Parts: sequence; C-alpha cells; structure tokens
Amino acid sequence: MSTHYPPEAPASEALLARATAVIPGGVNSPVRAFRSVGGTPRFMSSAAGPWLTDADGRRYVDLVSSWGPMILGHAHPEVLEAVRSTAADGFSFGTPSEHEVALAEEIVDRVEPVETVRLVNSGTEATMSAIRLARGFTGRSVIVKFAGCYHGHVDSLLAAAGSGLATFALPDSAGVPASSAAETIVVPYNDIPALEAAFAERGGEIAAVITEACPGNMGVVPPQVGFTEALRRVTREHGALLISDEVMTGFRCSRAGWFGLEGPYAEGSPDLFTFGKVMGGGFPAAAFGGRADVMALLAPEGPVYQAGTLSGNPVASAAGLATLRLCTPEVYARLDEVAHTIAGAVTEEFTRAGVPHRIQWAGSMFSVFLREPEVRDYTDAQDQDTAAFGRFFHGMLSRGVHLPPSAFETWFVSAALDDEAVETILSALPGAVAEIG
Ligand code: PMP
Repeated sequence: MSTHYPPEAPASEALLARATAVIPGGVNSPVRAFRSVGGTPRFMSSAAGPWLTDADGRRYVDLVSSWGPMILGHAHPEVLEAVRSTAADGFSFGTPSEHEVALAEEIVDRVEPVETVRLVNSGTEATMSAIRLARGFTGRSVIVKFAGCYHGHVDSLLAAAGSGLATFALPDSAGVPASSAAETIVVPYNDIPALEAAFAERGGEIAAVITEACPGNMGVVPPQVGFTEALRRVTREHGALLISDEVMTGFRCSRAGWFGLEGPYAEGSPDLFTFGKVMGGGFPAAAFGGRADVMALLAPEGPVYQAGTLSGNPVASAAGLATLRLCTPEVYARLDEVAHTIAGAVTEEFTRAGVPHRIQWAGSMFSVFLREPEVRDYTDAQDQDTAAFGRFFHGMLSRGVHLPPSAFETWFVSAALDDEAVETILSALPGAVAEIG
C-alpha cells in the first residue's frame, strides 16, 4: 500500500512556531521555508541512506540530498566511521593537519587543471575568495556573471542570481551597495554576442568572468556547444580570468565534475575553480583552486588576504575525503542509472497526463521544467507554471517523496536510492501528477 500523509504536520508546525520566534522566517537558509510551494517545511529528525524522517515520524525518499552533498545517501557507514574516528582525536586544532592535505590532494588529483587549492567553509566563501584573487591578479575590479547563475550570497554576485532569488522574485538583494553592484555586469547565459559586447565596451576593466560550470540554480541549463570555449577565448583575448563555479557540479557530474564531462577544452581550461557540497560529505567544507601562479598570490605567499578559523577542519576534511574516495566509477554509473529511471518515469506520467514539461540534464543532475521548449537561459526558465509545480511538489510530499521545494532547482539523486526508494517514487508519481490539475 502506498503512503498518503495528511497535509497537517503537527510536530513540524510546532517546531516552525518555535523557530519563527528566534530565527528570521524560522529557517537558516531561505529556500528551506517552502515559500514558493506553500505549506509547512518538514523539520527532519534523522536520515539514513535514501530516507529522511521528520519530527512526526514520517519517512520521505530524499531527492534533495542536502542540495547536493549527500551523494552517497545519509549517514553512510564508512563516512560515519571516518567522522567518528577523526572527531575522537579532537575537533579543531587551529594548526595544519594531515586530513586537509589529503583532501586537497584528492581534489588536485581529480580535476586536472587544478594545481593548488585552498580549503574554506562554504561555497560562498569559495567564490568570494576566487573573485578577490582574480581582482588581485589582474588589478581590475569588474566581474561578469550570467543571469540565473547563483554563486552564493556574495555582494557583487547577488545580481540576477537564480533559485532562491528567482523563487522570491527579488530582482536583487537589499543591503548590497550600489557601488558593489556597479562592479558587476550581468549577461544572459548562452549568449556569446552579449558577452562579446560587454568585453568590447569594458574589456580593460574586467577582472574575471564567473560562470556555473553547468548552471543548476535556474534549473539545469547546460552550456550550448561552444559556449564554454567562447568564455575561454574572450577572457583570454582581454586578459581576464575565467572562474568555473563547480560548487554544485563538482564531483557529482563525474569524478571531476562538469569539467570531467565537457573538458578539457581546445581553447584551454578555466583559470580558477570553486568547489563545495560533495567535497564536504555533508560537513562545511569548500574550496577554490586552479593555476598555481594565480593561487600563489594568496597570503601568506602573496598580497591577497584570505583566512578562516575553521578552514580545513579535520572532521569536515575527513568526511569529505571519505565521501570522495567512495565516489567510484560504479557509484557514478549507479547515479546515472537511478536518475534516468526516475526522470523516465516522470516523463511517462507527465506525458500520459498531458502536462507540458521538459527535462534537462547535467550528468546525473536533472531538473523538470513545466514547459516544453528548451530552456537556454534565465528568461526561458522563468517562463513556466510555478503554481503547478507547487501542487506537484505537495502531491509527492504527501506520498513520501521530498523534492526540492522550488521549480528552479535541480533534483539531486544519491547512490543510496535502492529498489524500495525508487518504487516509492514511481508509485507516488501518478497521483501527484493528477493533482497538478
Ligand atoms: N555556487 C553554486 C553553483 C551553488 O550552487 C552554491 C549553493 N547552492 C553556492 C555557490 C554557494 O554555496 P554555499 O551555499 O555553500 O555558500
């Protein structure tokens, strides 16, 4: 018999009331609040393998995977053991330790153009630091980003930033100084002429172009053939750096991330990369790295300051390293297989019900747009039926499947999705699709 939970979630509602009294909006990251789909966010009490269990004791198949990190599923026994044994030796030393060296070695080994890497605590810190480094290296200040790409809540990158912001339809964030926004040029994604025009006008001031290696924060919108190459060519012609943000795609789309799927590029590799999510195994760990001559500008070697009390934390590094080491070719094959099974079933049910939709891919990352034409940029992504997505989301949630709570998000599978979990998804789909109406 398939699950059918009532819409009320008393324990989560009580926790949300407590949370709202002491935490703005009751959440510590906006998209968790269910604002775009309505209803009460489920407060989770535990997770194991592909399952989340909420405060009411209800189980959900997890297709969020903590927004990417939990690629192996929750509380993987070998990662748990690495965390336990490392924590038993102390939580943080404020000195270097072998764990962070081993994690850095693993990253350098996996992503060919990355010669050296510095560990930080979040994707936001990684992109913020990469931008400072690019500015320090070039002596220029302007940054080019693409509409719909999200790079964390860095002041200069909070213009047309996709997902959370798309969800809330905020054109920008309050609190970002005009002077900061003035240093950012926003260009439509996949639009080479617009990029060339921006460089023709201000090329001498541009320090870097930052792009999601394959955007996932406006839903999955892959670069058109030749787009990444064009970024490389144009930046090189004008003496600007190219920063590839692989916080979401890194170590997920392939052993190396999106670079491992699309690169190496004939025109040359990006200069800097940013990583997060999977490389922390569910703990706060992220990184930026790339060309050794650029990275050499960082303190203490060079004049670009960057630091962190908990950077390279031993427990986070051990969790990340254990996770990466378990991400074998078999795991990537399983992720691809399970993603295709789920997406195939989604297509079948939507087609049967006559709901216009389109699925777009980046390795095992995919997203479901409620429109038929291809989505090539942020304008396309916004042109879909988000209210219908809300009904579909709740139809799935009540049947024990937790999707990302926004129409602009990627669905993240884990290698822990077993037959029971997949069956739960497949049997939830017909009823949930019927509720789209
Ligand atoms: N870059 C990308 C591509 C991301 O997807 C995210 C987070 N979703 C970030 C940067 C920011 O990472 P964090 O939330 O760890 O600060």
